[in-house]
Amino acid sequence: MTSNVGRREMHRKAWEIGMKRLFVKGFLLALGILQLYAVDAYAQDRRVLARAQQVTGDRFTVAVTTLRGANVFAVTRPSSQMLAAIDQGLSDLFAVSRKNRYSRRLNYRDYTIYIAKADRNRDSTGNYSPDIAVGAGQYAGTDYDQGGYIFAAGMVIWNSPSAFVIAEHDRDLKRVSDIVRYEGEHLVLYHNDRRRYEATKDHSKGGGHPILQ
Ligand SMILES: [Zn+2]
Repeated sequence: MTSNVGRREMHRKAWEIGMKRLFVKGFLLALGILQLYAVDAYAQDRRVLARAQQVTGDRFTVAVTTLRGANVFAVTRPSSQMLAAIDQGLSDLFAVSRKNRYSRRLNYRDYTIYIAKADRNRDSTGNYSPDIAVGAGQYAGTDYDQGGYIFAAGMVIWNSPSAFVIAEHDRDLKRVSDIVRYEGEHLVLYHNDRRRYEATKDHSKGGGHPILQ
């Protein structure tokens, strides 16, 4: 037996269930989209991490952020002085970039710094100079070439997101700030002045840092 009232009631119930299903579907869809974004960001970081590990031969198992928000991956937990030196280098980079009227990628969180194990702690003249050995590449046959590899204070490993590698320091943290500023110059130029970036990205034919005055 179905009265009019009963039918209307059933209709209302069906409508409610339909709306609930729609709501659940919408929620699941939103969740799926969020997950896609998360996976994408994660995948991007995995690619950069893989490249950093390939270049240095290190495994970066420590993840921290500086006080000002830069991302740091390291082999061993960096000291607070090391992190402050990174922030100082980025501050110097942003100041000189603004002076040159560049405005893109001037946030601490835009940068990821990999701190690798040094492959040497002293340069050829005996001065404290933690550097990393990297494949000679375009530096093959130049004065930098050590026989297939070169010693570098720092090296850009990814342009977007912006990431570079430096070596662990336990003193002379002014040097860390300088390296951060210098590697950052290549990245700021990449995102703000592509022609100047192309003209200065490679030091094998001369030209060094600072690029921005
Ligand atoms: Zn450089």
